[in-house]
Amino acid sequence: MEFKDIIIKWYNENRRDLPWRNTDDSYHIWISEVILQQTRVAQGLDYYLRFIDTFPSIKDLAEANIDKVMKVWQGLGYYSRARNLHSAAQQIMANYNGVLPHSYKELLKIKGLGPYSAGAIASFAYKEVVPAIDGNVYRVLSRVYGVFTSQETSAGKKEFFELTMELIDKNQPNVFNQALLDFGAMQCVPRSPNCSVCPFSDICYAYRNNLVNQLPIKGKKIATRDRFLNYVMIRYKDTTFIQRRVAGDIWTSLYEFPLIETKSPTEIEALIKEAAWKELFGKEKVKILNISQTIKHQLSHQTLFVKFIIAEISKPTYYLNLNFLNVSISNIQEYSIPKVIDNILAAEPTEKYFLRNHSY
Ligand code: SF4
Repeated sequence: MEFKDIIIKWYNENRRDLPWRNTDDSYHIWISEVILQQTRVAQGLDYYLRFIDTFPSIKDLAEANIDKVMKVWQGLGYYSRARNLHSAAQQIMANYNGVLPHSYKELLKIKGLGPYSAGAIASFAYKEVVPAIDGNVYRVLSRVYGVFTSQETSAGKKEFFELTMELIDKNQPNVFNQALLDFGAMQCVPRSPNCSVCPFSDICYAYRNNLVNQLPIKGKKIATRDRFLNYVMIRYKDTTFIQRRVAGDIWTSLYEFPLIETKSPTEIEALIKEAAWKELFGKEKVKILNISQTIKHQLSHQTLFVKFIIAEISKPTYYLNLNFLNVSISNIQEYSIPKVIDNILAAEPTEKYFLRNHSY
């Protein structure tokens, strides 16, 4: 199942029945979104109902005395938002015939409407395919996809916008956006989310890498981290073994050799004692033919230290047969592979990467 299908399925089973969710009235959606930016749903609900009751239309709001608007808003805080709502209503009456514009781009011209609110109105009311990204969405996406760019940087805003555009359900952007917002508010909460019951637990980068408390990245500083990847290029007759990478980490869907990731640089003597090595080869005899130098490969927020081990076997284990594709060595480059593997295949067995005359 794709991300959109999983999140919409979760939403259908867990959604909250809120009045502004059962409407495509752009005015009601606008008011609810402004109120919810600063308050929890339980408290916001009363304010929303009272506001809509007192000012049933944009015209009523525009013509109201500002003191009356402030009175209804009293207790919610962030009073500039109430003033903005009032003057935005007047702007809509003057320039848009009393109706909120129908496009994301045009909505951004309304006083007080930022990318999140414009995206929420455009997608919820008019089904425009555009993200509505708030703190909940940043949190979910940074954890599931391992995005280490801070949402507070312009690079981060762009990256999250583009990622959401890739994931969004183009047939029902309204449902998708609402599902993502609710999922962040109810399941993937800031502290101690219950990952064991999460439908993304199999693919979630943060959960799989024990980084739930580190993501999302806050502030303007971009965090980088080091990873140590040991690829085992197995030779069995004239074939080798590869696997497709799953979602939730770098290089999703690309192919790679069996991988043993370690927490620090690991020499072969220690590597063959790792559980992952034993799982790969069981009790079968393995002849190590060569080991590459450590290759440093820089990604935007990760520094990879990659090593390749060429190992020969005379019989593949059950585990290898079960979990990997057994492909002809000469055909590997027909598969989509990460650049660092492509480089080594193109170079092997030159001295650039491999230590020649090394015997094990
Ligand atoms: S597994 Fe945990 S961190 Fe990942 S999306 Fe689910 S709740 Fe969030």
